[in-house]
Amino acid sequence: MKINSQRSLIKLLKSSSPKAFRVFNFGCRVNAAEINQLSQFFINYGFTPSLVDNPQIILINTCAVTRKGENESLTKIRVLQKQYPQSLIIATGCANLNKIQNILTIDNILKDNILTNTNGYYSPKIGDKYTPHKRYLLRVQSGCTQKCSYCIVPQKRPHLWSLAPSTAVATIKKIEAEYNEIIITGVNLAQYQYGLTDLVKKIIEETKIKLISFGSIPLNCFNDEFLNLLDNKRIVKFLHIPIQSGSNRILKLMRRPYNQKKIINVFESLKSKIKNLSLGTDIIVGFPTETKADFQKTYNLCRKIGFKKIHTFRFSPRPNTEAQKLFDQNPKINKTELKSRSIKIRNLVNY
Ligand code: SF4
Repeated sequence: MKINSQRSLIKLLKSSSPKAFRVFNFGCRVNAAEINQLSQFFINYGFTPSLVDNPQIILINTCAVTRKGENESLTKIRVLQKQYPQSLIIATGCANLNKIQNILTIDNILKDNILTNTNGYYSPKIGDKYTPHKRYLLRVQSGCTQKCSYCIVPQKRPHLWSLAPSTAVATIKKIEAEYNEIIITGVNLAQYQYGLTDLVKKIIEETKIKLISFGSIPLNCFNDEFLNLLDNKRIVKFLHIPIQSGSNRILKLMRRPYNQKKIINVFESLKSKIKNLSLGTDIIVGFPTETKADFQKTYNLCRKIGFKKIHTFRFSPRPNTEAQKLFDQNPKINKTELKSRSIKIRNLVNY
């Protein structure tokens, strides 16, 4: 059953007793930031994060970027239903939650509205895997309308939302005494409506946070002004910039807004302007019709750039995407070949 409004969620929280809740999160850093902020919202209504058996409410943020990610999210909900039959499960996020009975759901648009009220804030009491390292997830953007041909996100997060720079600064001032670093995160930071450069400038000028880093930064965010800013000593010298492929033919089929020449130009500028910079990226291997020659272009480009980290994904056909049609209409790349391509890319990185 869908929770249709913030008011009905608040009514539910106020009427619940006792007020213990647990959270589970799947997927990206945006999801991780959201589950922390939703936890804060629950705490604001008297709930306590707890590991007790049969908490009143279990909150889960799901993922659907890959088929594997979606299946893991949905399986977890089913396991929790069996494990905690007394608990009320509230699920949100990108997975197809219609597949599960007897849960409450919050869609991503309502979630954005609810989280707008938290101004990106969650208390240091709310722990996650970043907390021990005094790193704070600052969600500044949600939604994407770019429509890369393989990606399901625009279907799940069609609504663009951005955190105003003045609100971001106010939130950082609330937490800067407890944390060393903020991680600026968004679904597509290239669609941050206030301008990423202006946001980072304002944070550097108006807060005392020691370090500023980023989740994934789209290649198209890198203009001269932003490049000049990145040399600031408070900016962490690691940038994760997804390129996905090194073949112009595949990049075009993926509907990525750049080609190989642009990739090389941006990375060369970064390396020439910023000392001691480490780089990470995302690569999809086995995109429909990817030939050995296409793959070799990706491999050569990754070797040329010299990434410290590469998240390698095997192509996963997502429902109602252009790439799924391509996948259905073309011969499949065999598993052995897919495996060998993944291994070759992974071996480029000596951790
Ligand atoms: S930019 Fe492309 S890959 Fe990233 S969320 Fe949007 S559609 Fe998906």
